[in-house]
Amino acid sequence: MPDALRIDSHLHLYQTKAAGRREKETYEIWEYGSKPDVTFAAFDGDIEDTEAAMAAAGYSHAVIANLFAIALLDDNLRAAGTAVQAERLIDFNRWACELAASRPRLSVFVASDPTVLGGDAGAAHLREMVEQHGARGIKIHPVVQQFLPNDPRMHAIYRTCVELGIPVLAHSGSARGAVQFAEPRAFAEVVKMFPTLNLVLAHLGGGAWRQTTAFAQAFPRVSFDLCEIIAWTGAPSAPTSHELASVILDVGPDRVMLGTDFPWYDLADTANRVLDLPLLSDQQKLGILGANAARILSLSSEHPTRALR
Ligand SMILES: [Zn+2]
Repeated sequence: MPDALRIDSHLHLYQTKAAGRREKETYEIWEYGSKPDVTFAAFDGDIEDTEAAMAAAGYSHAVIANLFAIALLDDNLRAAGTAVQAERLIDFNRWACELAASRPRLSVFVASDPTVLGGDAGAAHLREMVEQHGARGIKIHPVVQQFLPNDPRMHAIYRTCVELGIPVLAHSGSARGAVQFAEPRAFAEVVKMFPTLNLVLAHLGGGAWRQTTAFAQAFPRVSFDLCEIIAWTGAPSAPTSHELASVILDVGPDRVMLGTDFPWYDLADTANRVLDLPLLSDQQKLGILGANAARILSLSSEHPTRALR
């Protein structure tokens, strides 16, 4: 195979190793059932770890898709009220943008949270982050943030994403309890309301992956990343690697991007899992490794490439 551009379209960056370690320890991954041999990254996810992991695995670019949710704040901030939480969200997004400003290999998708900073205020913050701080997209996690994708508090934010031409990276997957906040079909109303929105569903639907093909066929402008689910193939509620490759073929391999969800999963291991997928051609795998992300997310591809293995 020729040299390949490697782009991680979905990783998390933490302010400190302790913060990354804490979130890795407390974020429970349950929706695929149990799998004893999942390969996790040997990193905590601060900037030093991120740059070391990218260099070791030959990635030329990564998208920081940080998550902000009240449920993940420490006790003081959780009790503090929305105004203080909104300040924390704004500071958090500014920090990520400042860090990436001097690092052309990193792009920031800022965290958006309709409970803490929704509606016009959330849209104004987003516009400032993009126009003055270099942000390239937004990240939402409807399960942890407890909102449905078509929540009216998100509409001004989606509209601003369309106006600015930036993508929305949304967690997708199963939720515990009665409300399925982020299964693929929960996004249908948003796509109908904002047909030109550049929506990316993470994890190819996660535990709700059996919906993904029909959703993708109904909404041909939506794209996907394959982080997490590719590490859990073979688990009771996850696809086998053969089923995962079938879903990718049915969705359209040019609509699927490699993500790692670092510091959860390992960058080299994830790329190798893509290369090892059955059914797909070398050309299709090259797209998934990086070229699709460069196109779909409008990232710079003017970075060195490397041999695939
Ligand atoms: Zn993630």
